[in-house]
Amino acid sequence: MHEMSLVQALLAQLADLATEHNKKRVITVTLDIGPLSGVVIDSFQFGFDILSAENSLTKGARLIIVNPPATYQCIRCGHRQSSLIRPDSCPECDETLLIPEGGDAIILNQVEME
Ligand SMILES: [Zn+2]
Repeated sequence: MHEMSLVQALLAQLADLATEHNKKRVITVTLDIGPLSGVVIDSFQFGFDILSAENSLTKGARLIIVNPPATYQCIRCGHRQSSLIRPDSCPECDETLLIPEGGDAIILNQVEME
């Protein structure tokens, strides 16, 4: 499962952060996962629940996933709209060719540690 390797990368990043800041435990992790990232949120959460329990640093940590919308720009009139799902057409001119911008990243937004 693709999400498992992403969770492993996240946990490695958290371990580095904890070392850097001399912390012992992660309380909450807030992640932005874009709708075009290809990540299945449920699978990611599932992977986190399993893998985070395997070490004392992240055991019991809470994962908060924020799913920000992507921006779609119309290729004809340049109108931009934000949406979680790909819009069928431009609301201004009915063009169906819309170019997504952003929304494909996974961003570690906030980490609370003690
Ligand atoms: Zn348009």
